[in-house]
Amino acid sequence: MGKALEWLGSAGCESLAGQILHDARRKGKRLWAPCPFHGGASHTAFHYEADKDIFYCHKCGATGDLIELYACLRCPGQDRGESFKAFAKEYGPPPDPEKLRQWQKRRQGQRDLSFEKKFSFTPAAPVFPHLEWQSRAAGFAGHSRDRLMKNTDALAWLAGRGISLDVAERCCLGWNDKFKSFPAKAWGLPEADAKIYLSPGLVIPVFQGARAQPLKIKIRRFGKIEKGPRYYLVKGSSTGMAVYGRGPKVMIVEGELDCVLLWGLAEKRRDWTFIATGGCSFRPDSELHARLSKASAIAVSFDNDEAGRKSFEEFWRKAYPQARPWPVPFGKDPGEAFQGGVDLSVWLDSF
Ligand SMILES: [Zn+2]
Repeated sequence: MGKALEWLGSAGCESLAGQILHDARRKGKRLWAPCPFHGGASHTAFHYEADKDIFYCHKCGATGDLIELYACLRCPGQDRGESFKAFAKEYGPPPDPEKLRQWQKRRQGQRDLSFEKKFSFTPAAPVFPHLEWQSRAAGFAGHSRDRLMKNTDALAWLAGRGISLDVAERCCLGWNDKFKSFPAKAWGLPEADAKIYLSPGLVIPVFQGARAQPLKIKIRRFGKIEKGPRYYLVKGSSTGMAVYGRGPKVMIVEGELDCVLLWGLAEKRRDWTFIATGGCSFRPDSELHARLSKASAIAVSFDNDEAGRKSFEEFWRKAYPQARPWPVPFGKDPGEAFQGGVDLSVWLDSF
């Protein structure tokens, strides 16, 4: 068995071949692509078969394994030894025992890519809340932020989740001290009899762009909850995802507070964008989809449960070839991992 097959498995080999070949298409057990050796645009001459780790071109006779393909396309001008070293460094087992453990875990997480089942995804156009809603929400977020800065208990709770006062302030987290309700019409919503309810708790507003437009408001409720979820979504909020940062690598998590925590840790390095989906069943809109498609790498760190794993397999892996599962090493999400003593900077760096 070649080293590529040994290290990556056939699914990993196929996934990598799909990434390095231009416009690869799966047919049966083979990936077909325009031949990178003789050029041309047809999908009828060159193919790669991951089970055997071999490529062959009927037209020019080029043949070899994935490492040779990688050498040709990713390391032009280097000799065989150098390109093998480059491949081993990127895909071989790391020497450091801790990283080796994660590497083995990641490999076990790799399953067959089902190109057979045609996957198609048409993202929906972004939907923004009513302008009146945005203006009310921005006012509420601003007042809540001022209240949070004076609330030592809430700030201590945030510190316990790894979120400093400075980061809380810059992400515009807030505190709502008592239950409030307004006619939905006053917030620009069409429903005549409906009401907007603002629960007491930690206010987590999500903005589009440079804080200009509020997209949604979530309130993390404390104590015993009679009705509804722990994280309450204020009526009229859009289903758009929360985006923090502008880096080329993307980390996908479920919760907004996890995003805030990670953004605070990685902010100075500027290499990450953190996205909170608000639940593993939501899908990106067309703007976010365009951005994700261009991301250099996507780490998907959904909650460590069946729903999170299923969402990755059924959507993220198929929609974005550069997406990899990247669960936290402890607990169900980054917040729990932080509380369990995990150094999340190391976890980010090891991706
Ligand atoms: Zn050829």
